[in-house]
Amino acid sequence: MRNLCVIFPDQLNPLISSLWDFDHELDEILICEFKKDFTNVNHHKKKIVYQLSCMRHFQSDLTEMGYKVNYVKLDDSNNYDYFLPHLQALKRANGFEKLIMTEPSSFDDLSSVNRWNEQLKVSVIIRKNNLFICDREEFETWSNGRKELRQEYFYRMLRKKFNILMERDKPVGDVWNFDKNNRKSLQDNIAVPEKYTSCLDDLTIEVIEMVNHEFHDHFGTTDHFGFAVNRKQALTALEKFIQERLENFGDYQDAMLSGEPWLFHSHLSMYLNNGLLNPMECLKYAENEHKASKAPINSVEGFIRQILGWREYVRGIYWLKMPDYKNMNELDADIPLPPFFWNADTNMNCIKESVKNTMQNAYAHHIQRLMVLGNFALIAGIHPKDVNYWFLSVYSDAYEWVELPNVNGMALFADGGIMATKPYASTGAYIDRMSNYCDDCCYNVKEKIGDGACPFNYLYWNFLERNQLRLSKNHRLGLAYKNLEKLPKEKLTSLRNSSEKFLLKMCKGEKV
Ligand code: FAD
Ligand code: SF4
Repeated sequence: MRNLCVIFPDQLNPLISSLWDFDHELDEILICEFKKDFTNVNHHKKKIVYQLSCMRHFQSDLTEMGYKVNYVKLDDSNNYDYFLPHLQALKRANGFEKLIMTEPSSFDDLSSVNRWNEQLKVSVIIRKNNLFICDREEFETWSNGRKELRQEYFYRMLRKKFNILMERDKPVGDVWNFDKNNRKSLQDNIAVPEKYTSCLDDLTIEVIEMVNHEFHDHFGTTDHFGFAVNRKQALTALEKFIQERLENFGDYQDAMLSGEPWLFHSHLSMYLNNGLLNPMECLKYAENEHKASKAPINSVEGFIRQILGWREYVRGIYWLKMPDYKNMNELDADIPLPPFFWNADTNMNCIKESVKNTMQNAYAHHIQRLMVLGNFALIAGIHPKDVNYWFLSVYSDAYEWVELPNVNGMALFADGGIMATKPYASTGAYIDRMSNYCDDCCYNVKEKIGDGACPFNYLYWNFLERNQLRLSKNHRLGLAYKNLEKLPKEKLTSLRNSSEKFLLKMCKGEKV
């Protein structure tokens, strides 16, 4: 063998940079299923099925295309659960001149790979990860000398660089961001299109059976598995989103509705995050729909901003701030994650619905993650380590590089404001405005104090009071702190008492 190309489980694309100069006569590929990757946290069963099925389909596609693939299966007797012994064994058996790979997406994997050269005494070539639009170095250059790393300016820089939604040097529609148009709530009589569901083949059925057996104690269920598991299917899912959902994506981006977990979102994150789809092809497709007058600008810009702006920005922050970012806890939150995050056994209907969706689908959309689950964890003061463990476990799109900044930066403000200009803390009023969850809740969203009041209401004020020293100087919280100061003392004491009573009950494991 001349070169060995290592492909990581989230690089399942034949155009990956590690294969650019692959010689079918001389080179080989190594792909490994490692149990530790599926047991490092309590990964959702559907997420494990998804990842394993995608890997096995990718192997079969590569083999059909004439690549020689060394594929290590989870239950192979000689599976060492780490790359190094496999690389040593292949070197002993066949020898290779160079190890070639695309830069892994996680900090720990890159740290391991950086040691291979020394450990294996071969030349190791690490190529840029072309499953992202912006290089790590480019993000670092952009960040240099900036007081604040705001996503919006990064996004505008990339729009200009790649000439996306631009008319000469101006943004299409004369504004960069149509977010304020994208806050409509949904009525339950609006028809939501059916979601893409793949047909299960023998390979996926076999993986489902294995996961139900080997990972039976993991979170969630494999029932109704229907994610795309190869590139062809992922392209069909993309096509279906663009044709059936994109039009309404913007209007209802922040809406939530009981019994409708998928709404007008794209459900493409898991395909983007393991290489089945490429980010540029997704946003170009959406841009072309706008050019052909088939989709409104608020939807197309909103979708493009999520992928070109948020996704690339989040990755940039991860690499810029790791490894310290993982241990940040700016607000000293220290309450353990309550069991209802795992079993949905709570009287708070918004949380019950969001956790049930998560258990069933290994998916919840952004506003459920941010404004229900994340918001609750923030205002209740749950420890970031616990929150990160949960978010990394339960979603099929969860990988550390994207999950960690979203939790520590966006949801919990644990990074002290590197990502968000202010904490995304809110009372129940936001959830009431954007959903119908409060209609069927044991708590009253209009009440602020007492056993029957919505916990988000008193916890919100308690959060502001608790963090007054740290947050009152934040100019975006000026109004909130002015309102806090205006509250009569007795009211403040009652809010504090309601919060303490609720948190005590929750920490004792009683149903709240
Ligand atoms: P859409 O609403 O259709 O958005 C389109 C695409 O934009 C997504 O597919 C995704 O690739 C990208 N995108 C949108 N927002 C973000 C964002 N904030 N960060 C990165 N990409 C974004 N996303 C993950 O991919 N993996 C995670 O583990 C993850 N954890 C999250 C945890 C929290 C607390 C929060 C608040 C958000 C998290 N997100 C995560 C971001 C976002 O919620 C998901 O990308 C989105 O819900 C996926 O659903 P979708 O494909 O239908 O997205
Ligand atoms: Fe959630 Fe409060 Fe509404 Fe209940 S009343 S659904 S707890 S926001």
